Amino acid sequence: MSQQGYVAAPPYSQSQPGIGGFSAGFGPPSSSHHYGDPNSYSAPQPVVSKSDVPFGSSAPVGPPPPGTHQIGQTNTQNGPSTAGQQPHSHQTQPAYPNTASTSSTAQLANQLSSMQINSYGPGTTPSSCPSGHPASFQGPQLLPPAQQQVALPPGPWIPPPAVKSLCAQPSLPPMVRQDGIPAPVPPNPNLQQLSGQPPGPGYPQQANYGPQMAGSPLSYPGAFPGGPAQLSGPPQKKLDPDAVPSPIQVIENDKASRGGQTYATNIRGQVPPLVTTDCIIQDQGHASPRFIRCTTYCFPSSSELAKQTRIPLAAVIQPFAVVPPNETPLYIVNHGETGPIRCNRCKAYMCPFMQFIEGGRRYQCGFCSCVNDVPPFFFQHLDHVGQRVDHYERPELSLGSYEYVATLDYCRNSKPPKPPAYIFMIDVSYRNIKSGLVRLICDELKTLLDKLPREDQEESSAIRVGFVTYNKVLHFFNVKSSLARPQMMVVSDVEEVFVPLLDGFLVNFQESRSVVISLLNQIPEVFADTNESETIFAPVIQAGVEALKAAECAGKLFIFHSSLPTAEAPGKLRNRDDKKLLNTDKEKTLFQPQVNAYEALARDCVANGCCVNLFLFPNQYVDVASMGLVTMYTGGTLYKYNNFQLDADSSQFLSDLRRDVEKKTGFDAIMRVRTSTGFRATDFFGAIYMNNTTDVEMAAVDCDKAVTVEFKHDDKLSEDSGALIQCAVLYTSVSGQRRLRIHNIGLNCSSQVADVYKTCETDALINFFAKSAFKAILSQPLKTVRDILVSQTAHMLACYKKNCASPSAVSQLILPDAMKVLPVYINCLLKSCVLMGRPEIPMDERAHQRQLVMSMGVAETQLFFYPQLLPIHSLDLKSDVVPAALRCSEERLSEGGVFLLANGLSLFLWLGVSAPPELIQGLFNVPSFAHINAEATSLPDLDNPFSKKLKAILEHLQGQKPYTMKLVIVKQREQPEMLFRQLLVEDKSIYGGGSYMDFLFCLHKEICQLLS
Ligand SMILES: [Zn+2]
Repeated sequence: MSQQGYVAAPPYSQSQPGIGGFSAGFGPPSSSHHYGDPNSYSAPQPVVSKSDVPFGSSAPVGPPPPGTHQIGQTNTQNGPSTAGQQPHSHQTQPAYPNTASTSSTAQLANQLSSMQINSYGPGTTPSSCPSGHPASFQGPQLLPPAQQQVALPPGPWIPPPAVKSLCAQPSLPPMVRQDGIPAPVPPNPNLQQLSGQPPGPGYPQQANYGPQMAGSPLSYPGAFPGGPAQLSGPPQKKLDPDAVPSPIQVIENDKASRGGQTYATNIRGQVPPLVTTDCIIQDQGHASPRFIRCTTYCFPSSSELAKQTRIPLAAVIQPFAVVPPNETPLYIVNHGETGPIRCNRCKAYMCPFMQFIEGGRRYQCGFCSCVNDVPPFFFQHLDHVGQRVDHYERPELSLGSYEYVATLDYCRNSKPPKPPAYIFMIDVSYRNIKSGLVRLICDELKTLLDKLPREDQEESSAIRVGFVTYNKVLHFFNVKSSLARPQMMVVSDVEEVFVPLLDGFLVNFQESRSVVISLLNQIPEVFADTNESETIFAPVIQAGVEALKAAECAGKLFIFHSSLPTAEAPGKLRNRDDKKLLNTDKEKTLFQPQVNAYEALARDCVANGCCVNLFLFPNQYVDVASMGLVTMYTGGTLYKYNNFQLDADSSQFLSDLRRDVEKKTGFDAIMRVRTSTGFRATDFFGAIYMNNTTDVEMAAVDCDKAVTVEFKHDDKLSEDSGALIQCAVLYTSVSGQRRLRIHNIGLNCSSQVADVYKTCETDALINFFAKSAFKAILSQPLKTVRDILVSQTAHMLACYKKNCASPSAVSQLILPDAMKVLPVYINCLLKSCVLMGRPEIPMDERAHQRQLVMSMGVAETQLFFYPQLLPIHSLDLKSDVVPAALRCSEERLSEGGVFLLANGLSLFLWLGVSAPPELIQGLFNVPSFAHINAEATSLPDLDNPFSKKLKAILEHLQGQKPYTMKLVIVKQREQPEMLFRQLLVEDKSIYGGGSYMDFLFCLHKEICQLLS
């Protein structure tokens, strides 16, 4: 038990040269090209020049161009659009700031109507394109027929005259400035900054972020106090929500056309099925969309074109995504001591993009064009088409994704790695003991440790485990198998933590089972009478990383913590929650760590392959922005259980813990993204750490973590060779084998704007926009970030309209087919609580959501920003099918209905006041609505078809989700309904964000201004 050699930690406050503040340590703001690279947007540049077609010309109205969605507007005064559904009243919720709605809503209706947009009815499925479209839109190899089609009915066109008035007046004042605003100003601070005022001095350098139109500041968000409902009074035009593009329709159409089929990745630039569509992926040379999804599958061929379209060029890479059992797992290629075959110049790995020449003796690299010799052991003859005869026998020649066994050259210090370790670190302060949490954790670990991850061929896990408890001091435990009972060692010097034992701290659970079980039995007893309420936090992480260093292995820490760490120690935090900072320039500081200690600690963890998983159980502010920082930069996961109650919250917590302990993970990982000539990766977003501009370091990367990579042009791209991307992740497996996981994908390139728009993927775009915006808020005012999002969306759509839409559509809101639901998603992002500060929303909640989104994959961001709303009252009890979702709007609810609403983090079961008694009886086993206990967090197991069906749906919803959703029962018109309503994202938010309709109007105005 020598302590020599393990007292290595430098003082926390010791900064290393060149890495001082937050932004310096974690990527200066200037590295973000979207939010702050003055070189990119140093001057307002007209991205879209003036159209040749004079606005207001009365060109003959023809069919709309293909690939285009034009937003519909129903006839006026057509009454309620949702027959049979009774929108429940706003009046029961006087807290909602909808006081200004009546007149301004009427105006909105009138002005939207003058947007003069074509309509298609509810439930209209995409019909085939009208004939006579320009051939350039057809691109048969790019898209399967179903996606080429446009949701345009042959329905009536409304001719443009009325429209002119809107677009002929680009300086039309924002709606809130019009006379109809009633006296009581809604309690929305945003409103005060609106309306024609130029941005105040607090928002510097607006001109740096894209062409800001003088005199027409963005009036979003919060600009439109009225929602679409509740029209009364003067002549109005009722907006029909079914006339604007529906995310649900898009999802259902894709399911109908591509669901259940096999999708082969054999064609470059092919757009995969949507992330919401279930299908079987077959790797035939490009990485599965489970691993890589792109914002567009056809890059603009020049940087000029890219700047013109403003479409972000990005890939969302989830390198360890779960491959379902009915798909082929990755092959492992082992070239023995020779190691992987790589291009001599650019170091790209052998892959399907390498072209074999000279009878197979040499190959030309697809990334840098360098001609390399084929190593003798790898030589093979070519067939009559120049393909190696062993093409289909070698994964690295024929597949998009595979693994290589790495050689010692790829290992730390050229030594083979040891298997990783998991260290469980439990806060045993007063509150955790009293709440029963400590006992719960200890009891769970007794069985969970049998389920540590292992390689398929292994009988038991190679992962070693260790245990630490702490309050103001640290307790290490010796659980060596030869001991009769565990031994505790206390470390009270928290300034410079050392590990008091090496032998016996990290053990194999199977070998030390009896000692470990004994320890887990004793921990709750030993601390049962504790009075200690203060805790440390940074020294806990430091202790974990020191233990891994001493054991020379990578690993994960599982920290179970409850309170703000106020004990005197490095990383000590104070309560700095300050509502006065909301909507000021200083709001961004609330997302940054309050002390530097955590940055240095994160760096130390990453350098030593130490991933930090944090389970937080706060009952007040704990400064998630500071405490979660190390978790974020080490590829860990932050779980948060507010006001944890043993009976109500245990199942959620234990389910999260089990999943995290068992999940597939790569340790001590480093990722490199290589590209073919002409473009390169310029920015990275995720739970990652960057020491330089190219290497993405991840202490660990698990199956749920995705890194979003942005690309920029260096040069022109060739339409022949396309844009090739290779992502290589070097990592240590659960068994301690050093491996490389390679994902390759090829995209097309085109000089035609239409090709780029046609192959866009909205879900991937939203993932990119969310992560880039959530990164930008660390360095910029939130309003600036929101304005940039609106401006960029408008630019993308304006460029499409100018270049691809029929001139007759001059005054209409035109959306490319592949982006037709982009506005609704962007609006959801804009009003997320991360980007929109409100005193009602705890700062920790915002910091937590920000952190979660930064590492999400495309499927997760899709669900998070546009939740799933399922009608439960109309279930087909005989079918196994989950009912089709509804649009997230109050209009879709009915008093007689029961609905589920889930976004991947929260799950609500909403019950209308007139829900059928037989359904209530079936689900809750009580006679009526009034008898339902809304405190319950689970439903009783009942032997009837309603109950069984709902249980099956809940299980399906939870599925492969990274976070366990706790069920919240919401009775109509009772208090928790406020939380539920926040997820009805198409409506005006109770916290100030505008509705989908509001945003379309705002966007249309922006686009008109850009094109005028
Ligand atoms: Zn090369």
